Amino acid sequence: MLQPYSLFSVISHETSHSVVITQWANRSIPFKNGMECLNEHFNRTCDLLEEGSCNSGAQTFTEDGSDILGQRINYEFFTRNYKDEELNKIVFDSDSLSVTREQAFFYLFGTTWCLKSGIVENHTDVHSNPQVRVNGVVTQMPEFSKAFSCTPEEAMFTAKKQTCNLFGPDSK
Ligand SMILES: [Zn+2]
Repeated sequence: MLQPYSLFSVISHETSHSVVITQWANRSIPFKNGMECLNEHFNRTCDLLEEGSCNSGAQTFTEDGSDILGQRINYEFFTRNYKDEELNKIVFDSDSLSVTREQAFFYLFGTTWCLKSGIVENHTDVHSNPQVRVNGVVTQMPEFSKAFSCTPEEAMFTAKKQTCNLFGPDSK
């Protein structure tokens, strides 16, 4: 059964499909550049995760692009509802793990794609493998680096200038 966050995540993903359309690369240079940037990024994510053979890239563009756009929209909507101190508030605490509200946002996203199927990719799928989907998206979000205090030498770090944007550099 879908949890409320997962449902929200699916809605934003599906809505994003209406503007993440491969053929638009023929009409817009920024879109074409953003698409190529994303395809390279997702292919690199396969290498980062040591996926072995992996078809993420052109084959999975519309799904990867919709995942990223959807998650950026979700993040903006989410953070609009909290002040900074509320985002930094610990909402889960145990002996081994403390989680802030902002970190919880990303954990929830990760659990959306948590499956028992393992990491073997279905090479005909237009979706990236679940762990590529999750890690490929959060490594396009400097907000993730901030929430988890990632440093530039860490694999999950992303700076704004490293992000791919389909609708120009200041778009989501
Ligand atoms: Zn989709």
